[in-house]
Amino acid sequence: MKRRNLVQGLGLAATVGSLGWLGGCASIASGKGPKVVVVGGGYGGATAAKYLRMWSDYGVDVTLVEPQASFVSCPISNLVLGGSKSMADITSRYDGLVRRHGVRMVRDTVEQIDPQRRTLKLASGAELAYDRLILSPGIDFMWDKLPGMNKPGMQEQVLHAWKAGPQTLALRQQLESMPDGGVFAMSIPQAPYRCPPGPYERACQVAHYFKQAKPRSKVIILDANDDVTSKGPLFKKAWAERYAGIIEYRPKHELSDVDGRVLKFEFADDVKAEVLNVIPPMRSGSIAVKTGLATANARWCEVDFLTFESKAARNIHVLGDSIQIAPLMPKSAHMANQHGKTCAAAVLALLTGKEPNRLPIYNNTCYSFVSDEDVVHVASVHRYDADKKTMLTVPGSGGVSVAANELEGRYAMAWARNIWSDTLS
Ligand SMILES: Cc1cc2nc3c(=O)[nH]c(=O)nc-3n(C[C@H](O)[C@H](O)[C@H](O)COP(=O)(O)OP(=O)(O)OC[C@H]3O[C@@H](n4cnc5c(N)ncnc54)[C@H](O)[C@@H]3O)c2cc1C
Repeated sequence: MKRRNLVQGLGLAATVGSLGWLGGCASIASGKGPKVVVVGGGYGGATAAKYLRMWSDYGVDVTLVEPQASFVSCPISNLVLGGSKSMADITSRYDGLVRRHGVRMVRDTVEQIDPQRRTLKLASGAELAYDRLILSPGIDFMWDKLPGMNKPGMQEQVLHAWKAGPQTLALRQQLESMPDGGVFAMSIPQAPYRCPPGPYERACQVAHYFKQAKPRSKVIILDANDDVTSKGPLFKKAWAERYAGIIEYRPKHELSDVDGRVLKFEFADDVKAEVLNVIPPMRSGSIAVKTGLATANARWCEVDFLTFESKAARNIHVLGDSIQIAPLMPKSAHMANQHGKTCAAAVLALLTGKEPNRLPIYNNTCYSFVSDEDVVHVASVHRYDADKKTMLTVPGSGGVSVAANELEGRYAMAWARNIWSDTLS
């Protein structure tokens, strides 16, 4: 659908035009329209920023605050650990958002939000004002649950690599330096956490590398959950058929602490390994917690699924991994991208006095590489339920792969290129 048709479909074009917001120039934000500030240039925030500009016909002034110089994708980052992709393959520039869409990028970190004054304080000391604020700060880790990880040097030595970037490369280097015959031990927190199938894909990638380069080495998965949380039968099949003798899966292993190179559990024996990968329990990005938006168990932000407006603060919308999810809704890049579009359309409706769409529908596909080529997927469709005021999976929608195969590997890479383009170009 062409952009103008989509704007008309949303019923926004006439209102936006009659208010005189049309900048007509995508190179810079006009500065005359309503001001929306987006915090976090990841999958949720960058998508919301781009679509707010496009669907307002470049009439809404959008500022995106993000500390990183470039966008580094968590999806496909496990393949960097496996050795078949590089950091360059998962890194994109923010240029498209600025040059093509006129998003004003501010490379900074938001330190404080004042919901009454509708202002943000940045680490640089600058202040930004907003009419509506969109927060997509991803996740942060609950280090207080693992006291040993707060000792000096521990977080540099025992990596999570659960935010793609320098730790992804550092963990790959630890695997390369590990002697053949060594053990890689990975801990998985209780769900919900970012990307349910991600740890199991990671185990496959590390095992794939060991099979080629260090065949006497082992991968031990220590999962706090009762069983594999996503695509269980497909992962277990891959472990049995491709990585027998390499991958060992131990459920019901909730990590209680880390001491040097030893993982400690309340109800199980310690595990010592040459390379540890601790994926800690997580919650909403710190800025959301600090602003008092994490109302669900002091961890996740509750929102109205029609608009993504926070249940704790007016004019602030939260999306992506930071939200308290609806049943069976994964914390995924695909989902954050869908949140970004739904939120952009709702914010534009609210800015123009319209009613937001009353029946949002999202879909999700999560691909997982079980080798450098073969892939499995799980897909679902989620629809708003007005009675329950939440998103429910559409009965009979979605599904899972029958078996891992190379054709799905090509679909997975096409999915990645499409979502990078949809988010940033
Ligand atoms: C190993 C791994 C593999 C994955 N694979 C897949 C996959 O195959 N498919 C899939 O759909 N999902 C996958 N995911 C999940 C996906 O990466 C996340 O669900 C997605 O990134 C969530 O988007 P988000 O916008 O909420 O957060 P993010 O993409 O993490 O973006 C948050 C942004 O906010 C910024 N930020 C935080 N605080 C502030 C602040 N105070 N001021 C300014 N900026 C701030 C951060 O710098 C960051 O850029 C994977 C995740 C991992 C870890």
